[in-house]
Amino acid sequence: MRALTIIFAGPGIMRADIIVSGCAVLTMGRAGIIERGIIAIRDGKILYVGGESEAPSFESDEIIDGRGKIAMPGLINCHTHIAMTLFRGVAEDKELSTWLRETIWPLESKLKPSDVYYGALLGFVEMIKSGTTCLLDMYFYEDIVARAAEESGMRCVLAPGIFDAGHKMLGSILLRRALKFVKKYHGKGSGRIHAMLGPHAVYTCSPDLLRMIGEEAARLNIGVHIHLAESESESINIRRIYGKSEVELLDEVGLLRPNLVAAHCIHLSNHDVSLMAKKGVKVVYNPISNMKLSSGIPRVKDLLDAGLTVGLGTDGPASNNCLDMFETMKVAALLQKALYRDPRVLPAKKVVEMATIDGARVLGLDHFIGSIEVGKRADIILIDVNKPHLTPLHDIYAALVYSARGSDVDTVIIDGKVVMRGRLIETVDEHEVMRKATETSQSLLSRKSLRGSLIKRLLRRNKDIGD
Ligand SMILES: [Zn+2]
Repeated sequence: MRALTIIFAGPGIMRADIIVSGCAVLTMGRAGIIERGIIAIRDGKILYVGGESEAPSFESDEIIDGRGKIAMPGLINCHTHIAMTLFRGVAEDKELSTWLRETIWPLESKLKPSDVYYGALLGFVEMIKSGTTCLLDMYFYEDIVARAAEESGMRCVLAPGIFDAGHKMLGSILLRRALKFVKKYHGKGSGRIHAMLGPHAVYTCSPDLLRMIGEEAARLNIGVHIHLAESESESINIRRIYGKSEVELLDEVGLLRPNLVAAHCIHLSNHDVSLMAKKGVKVVYNPISNMKLSSGIPRVKDLLDAGLTVGLGTDGPASNNCLDMFETMKVAALLQKALYRDPRVLPAKKVVEMATIDGARVLGLDHFIGSIEVGKRADIILIDVNKPHLTPLHDIYAALVYSARGSDVDTVIIDGKVVMRGRLIETVDEHEVMRKATETSQSLLSRKSLRGSLIKRLLRRNKDIGD
């Protein structure tokens, strides 16, 4: 194919793989908003970003016309359980512990690796179509999720779930299995797949297990992802058993560190908040799941005022019921305004930061993604603003948080590769993925319990991950 040349007034000609031109660029970096900008991508990285008037000329095989669109960093979903797309709509209007014990855990006990594959692919298709380019996932069979991520082009941080829940030796075996996963998959998918350890929660992991996880994470210099202070009754229970809060317990076992990513953080004392801030713990706010399961409302303003970094998550599709981060951004802002009875709380710009650069900080990937800046990986979405609900466009941040929807995303680039163009996914057949996921979900719901518990089957798969 003959390279196209795009001429600007600046000096020189640069060679690029992809050029995006003529759009407003919301960099989420030092350059702020560039009114009429150009982005050049080469070898998966951002080679140039700036105004068209000062840009050099470019030569490229692919020029994407960004007129009428906003380019911004891909959204980062910092907490989900992606394969739970299969459980969407099967357990409605239940409180967390009832929801888990009556529906989710019995269904999960019947899960097969092939179920997780189609559940994850469906989730990735939904995410790409609504502008998410990176997620932090905690679930079973993360090696299968990694395969789906490689095929779909998604960027992932994958945390295999670890728990012992009173089963002697189970925790250490699952930890060993997770460590094998880390060794095999961390940095795979051309660097798009990262790994963390995923102790499920303080109430499902013993202090000894949590301590072992902390030691291994420190040895490998990787992050740890956990549900923290989500359920009031479990938080009370922990205090009754151990005489301390969940946060104090995590501090005692050495897990309160800058690379601990704690989802929810609802039932915290002021002392817990200052301890977490002192240790640099990262927080994920999941407003829709918290509302749907009536878990409570985290005091996000207080967390931010204490100096904590907070990202946004959808949580699993069974407690949300969708993975649209635009919806999450809107609810995130509105819920905090209502909680504090102050419209100045969580202004739109801060919410966009939470869904982009702060999310990258939460995952420890801010040197890599989260803003459109030279040298970072090219995770970029284009939003079509030629829509009635985005007209007139006075304030880009407000439009993105209060008016935009996932379906306004037109083009998605992950790691310098176009994965969606004009709302058509280019990496997988989305209709086939929906068909297979529907079949899988129906088969799972009608399936009798599998022979042996999920735990036994998880342990049997130990060999599959490899050493
Ligand atoms: Zn969760």
